[in-house]
Amino acid sequence: MNTVAGPSTDVGDFRARVRAFLDSELPDDWAGVGKLDHAEAREFAQRWRASLAEHGFLAASWPVEYGGAGLTDAERVLLAEEFARVGVPTGIMNDIFSIVMIGNTLLHWGTEEQKKHFLPRILSGQDVWCQGYSEPDSGSDLASLSTRAVLDGDEWVINGQKIWTSGGHLADWIFVLVRTNSEAPAHRGITMLLVPIEQDGVDVRPIKNIAGESEFNEVYFTDARCPKENVVGEVDKGWPVAMTLLGFERGESAATLPIMFRAELDRLLDLARENGAAAEPVMRDALADIYIDNEVMRFLGRDSLARFLAGHAPGPDAAISKLFWSEYHEKATELALDVLERESLVAEGRRPTNTTLFQTDDVGAPNTSASWITTALNSRSGTIYAGTSEIQKTIIGEKLLGLPK
Ligand SMILES: Cc1cc2nc3c(=O)[nH]c(=O)nc-3n(C[C@H](O)[C@H](O)[C@H](O)COP(=O)(O)OP(=O)(O)OC[C@H]3O[C@@H](n4cnc5c(N)ncnc54)[C@H](O)[C@@H]3O)c2cc1C
Repeated sequence: MNTVAGPSTDVGDFRARVRAFLDSELPDDWAGVGKLDHAEAREFAQRWRASLAEHGFLAASWPVEYGGAGLTDAERVLLAEEFARVGVPTGIMNDIFSIVMIGNTLLHWGTEEQKKHFLPRILSGQDVWCQGYSEPDSGSDLASLSTRAVLDGDEWVINGQKIWTSGGHLADWIFVLVRTNSEAPAHRGITMLLVPIEQDGVDVRPIKNIAGESEFNEVYFTDARCPKENVVGEVDKGWPVAMTLLGFERGESAATLPIMFRAELDRLLDLARENGAAAEPVMRDALADIYIDNEVMRFLGRDSLARFLAGHAPGPDAAISKLFWSEYHEKATELALDVLERESLVAEGRRPTNTTLFQTDDVGAPNTSASWITTALNSRSGTIYAGTSEIQKTIIGEKLLGLPK
């Protein structure tokens, strides 16, 4: 099945193989998902995912025995980079939860039975996952979570509520952090459970975001059940499992975000040239400013990628990149609304699809007001998810600058 991907020691050779794959799979006039309308983009995403799975590129770093291609870190990053360059996704929206998060976590912590059962079902698309961490009163302070699970014979019985569950409406499984021991200190009595969503005790309710989309959800558990053996790691020792899962974004974004943000900036410059904004001195200043920030981001990305590929685990300095790109994106998209002037008041034309999940619009997307308005509104979320800007600043202050707690 793995006709193209496979372990390779020569990264240069590997780039040529990825390009050959893209050439053979994409039409000659391919110019990015952004050229497709929403129905075509949805259809393309499913076909593309199936093709990636067939060629071992879907979960490319997984061992071959579990359906991956056993790629090295350098090859995996290169693959993501080449895909970003031509404007194709590395999977569909929920794959960040199914493959990057729970799939990788099962490879690390799962039992052989769990790996054999769940991993092929993820790759085939039979099981789609979402992430049940945050609660209404536990976000940044995740260890204070209060959703509970108790054993009843051979099953866990779960009660409580999760919130901001991205893609929960598209998923049939949720990995949930629950409190299984309320006597133990906060970080100790937590367990990670694998819970099927299709049951009476689980209720997924959409939340509308400021862009008018319902991408995330509230998830209520009322005597919901899962088998006793659906624990990842050990009972009451889920905290290190939960943290491993959050650490699986390793390197790809340092390579792909600068490409995506540069493509977006080029689109903004086109817009400013076309509508005359680029001729105004104040606007030119702002565009030059954003270009400088974009370049800084590129260097930060290169730096963290080089350290990652040299074998350094991501440390507190990852907070600098997260803070910088998320704040950059708010600024860049706000500038786009200024460039649009009155047009920024009404969303018209093609909107972004969900293939890039809260980042830039799809590569090749037309310069419509709906594109920029939606992206600008969605960019707000970048300073919240995966650790808010305030939390990143605390990490920088305490861990990098050595300031008092
Ligand atoms: C688009 C989007 C998608 C998401 N998807 C998921 C998902 O799929 N699954 C999931 O489990 N969660 C998801 N989240 C939730 C996300 O992880 C939380 O929103 C995030 O951890 C912040 O938690 P909170 O919203 O409870 O804010 P809080 O932690 O309540 O923070 C509120 C404010 O207080 C500040 N603050 C909090 N603590 C401190 C501190 N110690 N020092 C200084 N300031 C502080 C914060 O910076 C923030 O400004 C998603 C969020 C967004 C925006």
